[in-house]
Amino acid sequence: MSRVLLVRPEESRSQYDFQGVIENECLELEWIMTILKEAGHDVTIFDKQVERKSFAAFLASQGFDVFYGECRCFQEPFLLEYAKLFRERCHGLVIAGGIHAQINSGRLQKDYIDVILCGFNYYDLPAVIAGDRHPANLVWQEEGIWHTTAKEAVDIRKMPWPDRTYFYAHPDRYPYLDMKHAMWVRSAFSCPYRCRFCLRNHMNSGVYSRRDVKDLVDEIAENDNETVYLVDDDFLFDENYVRQFIQTVRDKGIRRKYICYGRADFTAAHEDLIREFQKIGLVYLLCGLEDISDSRLDSYNKRNTAAVNEQCIAVCQKHGVRLMAMFILGLDWRGRDFRQLYRYIVKHDLKHVAVSIYTPEIGISDAEYITDDMTHFDYLHLVAKPVHLSVRQWYFHYYVLLIRLFLKAQRDGVYDFLDYGSYIRSFLRTILHRGEEDA
Ligand code: SF4
Repeated sequence: MSRVLLVRPEESRSQYDFQGVIENECLELEWIMTILKEAGHDVTIFDKQVERKSFAAFLASQGFDVFYGECRCFQEPFLLEYAKLFRERCHGLVIAGGIHAQINSGRLQKDYIDVILCGFNYYDLPAVIAGDRHPANLVWQEEGIWHTTAKEAVDIRKMPWPDRTYFYAHPDRYPYLDMKHAMWVRSAFSCPYRCRFCLRNHMNSGVYSRRDVKDLVDEIAENDNETVYLVDDDFLFDENYVRQFIQTVRDKGIRRKYICYGRADFTAAHEDLIREFQKIGLVYLLCGLEDISDSRLDSYNKRNTAAVNEQCIAVCQKHGVRLMAMFILGLDWRGRDFRQLYRYIVKHDLKHVAVSIYTPEIGISDAEYITDDMTHFDYLHLVAKPVHLSVRQWYFHYYVLLIRLFLKAQRDGVYDFLDYGSYIRSFLRTILHRGEEDA
């Protein structure tokens, strides 16, 4: 039996972290917890999103034999810092994993990391801890030489249910905006679409794998948490699946509030399903509208049109579903593009909007980057040069848009739980600061 520490680093150490606003349940670690507990290990989770103690202080108070840390691209420096500290203090086995590892294992090949798990085969971790280096999706080192095993997609139906002890121990955390304590449930790995900017469809070696509806609904029924966040990259993909999901939830008399990701084309084409989903509790539909022009949607290989996006908006508004409209701010944008997007948001009365800076993802893009600070790959920073504007000009329009969106949200009375003033003041400070910096 080993004492295993499962670690998820913080999302950010900057002023723009979303702590207390959107916090993600550490589902991956909870799956691993189930697997390792069943194998007889003593398992502890440390999620820096919610932990108050520093990692160093936490380590000082306990002893562990094994470290497993997962991260996304922008958490890489934090994960490496924690893995290194663990090796120095505890001298145990260090394993890295997570989404970033699936695409960029080379970046995690450090002398203080022993094994990198580059797939969803968490069920192989007991063997890895026991010293087996044959399971699929491994990158591992022996005396400074790195080895790899075969890549293999994982059938999600082999996954156990997560051990949610940690989630339930933090009832006041893991919100999604105004939805308290949102329980993450995943029904599929990867995504069947191939949008050019998106990392998600590269997960699981690009193979889409989905659970049976009954198993999904049983997991939801087993947990009486009010908010269920269906975190599939695209839950609204297969009409029959969604129909069966709604029917099974109805048959079992389950009352929950749902958040899910779904595509605009599906939403526009299945008004009846959206209406029925709303009736069983759909509150937020997170939808990548991405852009307001057909040419940019085409360039993203979105397989969708601006007209369909408008139908999606109309369907959600008609049936009382809160559409979280997500847009990408292009590197080729000029000032007028930022202004046009704002006018579109006002015209369509979009209450919930999220804007991301176009980020050519490390590992799937050959872009020339203007930074090697991995924390900037968080969709809130420019990591590549804008095409028509200087970096300073581009940021200027970006922050003006953010300020306008925050003021609009304040007028609309959404996100009342946010301190608007402090966000807006900090955007203004950033504009002024960048002005001085670049002057
Ligand atoms: S549909 Fe969504 S998750 Fe799938 S590839 Fe496109 S952006 Fe990514």
